[in-house]
Amino acid sequence: IIILAIESSCDETSASVCKDGKILSNFIANQKVHEKYGGVVPELASRAHMQNIVPVVDVAIQQAQIQLSQIDAIAFTYAPGLIGSLLVGSQFAKSIALALNKPLIAVHHMQAHVLANMIEERKPDFPFLCLTVSGGHTQIVIVNSPHDMHVIGETLDDAAGEAFDKSAKLLGLPYPGGPLIDKYAQQGNGNRFSFPEPQIEGLNFSFSGLKTSILYFIQENTKNNPEFIQENLEDICASIQQRIISILLNKLKKAAVQTGCKHLCIAGGVSANSGLRKAFQELGEKYNWQTYIPSFQYCTDNAGMIAITGYYKYLAGEFSPYSQSASARAEWK
Ligand code: ATP
Ligand code: MG
Ligand code: FE
Repeated sequence: IIILAIESSCDETSASVCKDGKILSNFIANQKVHEKYGGVVPELASRAHMQNIVPVVDVAIQQAQIQLSQIDAIAFTYAPGLIGSLLVGSQFAKSIALALNKPLIAVHHMQAHVLANMIEERKPDFPFLCLTVSGGHTQIVIVNSPHDMHVIGETLDDAAGEAFDKSAKLLGLPYPGGPLIDKYAQQGNGNRFSFPEPQIEGLNFSFSGLKTSILYFIQENTKNNPEFIQENLEDICASIQQRIISILLNKLKKAAVQTGCKHLCIAGGVSANSGLRKAFQELGEKYNWQTYIPSFQYCTDNAGMIAITGYYKYLAGEFSPYSQSASARAEWK
């Protein structure tokens, strides 16, 4: 079974080909235009997708060394994301499906982030838990099968990626700041400054208080020393990162105890964070859990995860009509 998959929910245009659950290609075009605006500009993202989509799909097909005629189905991200961005990928996917007379498979982006853990050789056993940490979401998901998963905890305000990016912005770092905080944190001491851990019941998260406490911390310390941030950047980044990680992993630990799951995964853009990866693996060793992290290219937005999800949907006969629309916000299905 050969699936062609397209991802265009935010600011990455990506295409992937997978054969019988094995990824043959996963090509990702990043959009540089947003950097100078300090965030993704939706209209510019749509236009960049328009420019990228044909060459990106072409490259994915070439790298996979297949012919268009060999494709059995076309999978695409239908939700959630920026509507203009989603429309480019979905219309393109529908056009190819119509032209080739092949079935169409609509994929939910957050379900795909979770199933990125099913791409590589070493796969978790069901049921497993997945902590999905991305630019727009922070969720703990219990995964009973590729088709049966439920969110059992999520953020009440900002996502973990937003917490990284907004903290970075307060420190005067360019967008997206998450990877930069990671970089500086590697040279810093995370115990140097202490930021509060929110007391939220159950398995939900909150990151808005952290942002406020960082703002006050910066105001307080730069009052008498305008160079405070520059002089302490590495320790500040390490301390912020350490707190975000402890908020995430304390809840994941709680979820593991509650559900009895022994196989734990992380997914989403923030799972590229080196501190989180390390702390997650250490936690697994401590509690005797099997831990899984997708390789970098499958953490941030990519069509490989859409392809693997499309493959499982294909096996289950979960196809979508050609009239399938895209949606900025949508429930899982
Ligand atoms: P969603 O999947 O919720 O729709 P998204 O697709 O925009 O959101 P991703 O592309 O999965 O999100 O992840 C992007 C986020 O990951 C950004 O907030 C970015 O700062 C963060 N990120 C990427 N690499 C790192 C890193 N090394 N450390 C911390 N954060 C990181
Ligand atoms: Mg992105
Ligand atoms: Fe994403």
